[in-house]
Amino acid sequence: MKRIAVLTSGGDAPGMNAAIRAVTRCGIAKGWEVFGVHQGYAGLIAGDFRALTMRGVSGILQQGGTVLGSARSQEFKTEDGRLKALWELRQIDIEAVVIIGGNGSQTGAYALSQMSFPVVGIASTIDNDLVGSDITIGVDTALNIALEAIDRLKTTASSHQRAFLLEVMGRNCGYLALAAGVAGGAEAIVIPEIEIEPEEVVQSFRRAYEKGKSHAFGVVAEGARYNAEKLVAYFSEHQARIGFELRTTTLGHVQRGGVPTAYDRLLASRLGAGAVATLARGETGVLVGMIKGDITTTPLEQVIGKQKPIDPELFDLAKVLDRQ
Ligand code: ATP
Repeated sequence: MKRIAVLTSGGDAPGMNAAIRAVTRCGIAKGWEVFGVHQGYAGLIAGDFRALTMRGVSGILQQGGTVLGSARSQEFKTEDGRLKALWELRQIDIEAVVIIGGNGSQTGAYALSQMSFPVVGIASTIDNDLVGSDITIGVDTALNIALEAIDRLKTTASSHQRAFLLEVMGRNCGYLALAAGVAGGAEAIVIPEIEIEPEEVVQSFRRAYEKGKSHAFGVVAEGARYNAEKLVAYFSEHQARIGFELRTTTLGHVQRGGVPTAYDRLLASRLGAGAVATLARGETGVLVGMIKGDITTTPLEQVIGKQKPIDPELFDLAKVLDRQ
């Protein structure tokens, strides 16, 4: 191996830069040349490659987002698009690509590997929905941002006797909402994987008030059947009977921003180093992730098109804790 490329794709996640830095430095330490691809798969198709150096990736460890940029590319979903990307890669003799991203990005990585091009994926998405890694780059930072919002909302909710609902990201995966709900002490957690009726949220909040709490709050995942908008509509429709107001805050992209936590920087550095070690031993077509604390590889064909299930024990724990 002499020359590799690295790209970030799909939604950006805090810690991606630490992974870029680790791939670059570990690759150069092996005597390889490392190229950064700008704007994900769109840059691969356009041949937007720039050489990365040891010094060139200085000062990015603590930055959120991705210095390589990220994009969503419809063209890469077509065979023509991928053939263009392959042509560009061969033009400058790149022998393998490291793809840092979530589910969609790893599906693209698999498609490229099926065209006999060596790829290695790195598990990176705030959604934590990837099979092949217990936790993915960006999740810890996103969770900490959600917790900060919860702590602030609790203060204002206590002052006004209002129920609050925080909507967090995660597409169809409820991990962020569940983990933020448990860590933040939510009275109600609404996630796509376990359907509940709006009346159950009302009851949870009512119990909190009856116990003498001055506030009640819940966390809802954006992909839940009853998301924040629908729950608010239910509360206002039944306002007279329910007897208290519901206010919502949607974190949206705020959750992706900011400085990556120590955990995300460490995880991303280990996964970046793991991707280089994987390529060095000639293994490709795999996702590098972390399972039970170890850096592991899982064939991409076992990763794509699946969603990691949430931990039912964590959901049960949330229910026990909110009864106190
Ligand atoms: P996140 O979950 O953090 O938002 P993601 O990697 O799942 O990230 P997507 O937008 O789903 O983000 O996918 C990123 C890119 O991966 C797409 O824009 C597309 O270029 C590529 N991709 C997705 N699905 C496929 C596919 N079936 N074949 C080829 N490429 C794909």
